Amino acid sequence: MTDFDPDHAPEPEHDHNLCIRNAISVAEQLCLSRGVQLTPIRHKVLELIWNSHKAVKAYDLLDQLRPVNDAAKPSTVYRALDFLLEQGLIHRVESLNAFVGCHRSGTQHDQLLLICTACHTVEERGAPSVIQSLSEELQTAGFSPQRKTIEIHGLCRSCRPQ
Ligand SMILES: [Zn+2]
Ligand SMILES: [Zn+2]
Ligand SMILES: [Zn+2]
Repeated sequence: MTDFDPDHAPEPEHDHNLCIRNAISVAEQLCLSRGVQLTPIRHKVLELIWNSHKAVKAYDLLDQLRPVNDAAKPSTVYRALDFLLEQGLIHRVESLNAFVGCHRSGTQHDQLLLICTACHTVEERGAPSVIQSLSEELQTAGFSPQRKTIEIHGLCRSCRPQ
């Protein structure tokens, strides 16, 4: 069993339990070292997001949360999402208004998100050369970015016609 390689698309037949276990243990360690609480609800929301590599919307999370926590309200989910975003454990996919787990948590990083319009799988890539040339372009423009996320929509390897 090889470690999950963050620069390669998740293969459809990969052992996703490994992704989940890895993401959860990284999150637990990070929260511990930062002295912040991964409360049961935050833990659960993170787990639900990591159900797959697909982007998931807040109200879908709420639907999945209700059977295990009938006190869950939209604000419960949004607060948990805010926490997870702040800690860099998930990313917001702006163009879908949805969320996806980050597998480079704990490192400051810009990202290139490849979003499949058919299956909604999101592949996060570091793409250092793209980010580098983008930084140069922004510098030339005298523009100071708050964050850099590049979102590309299209068909993933599994969905595109062969
Ligand atoms: Zn996976
Ligand atoms: Zn990330
Ligand atoms: Zn796809």
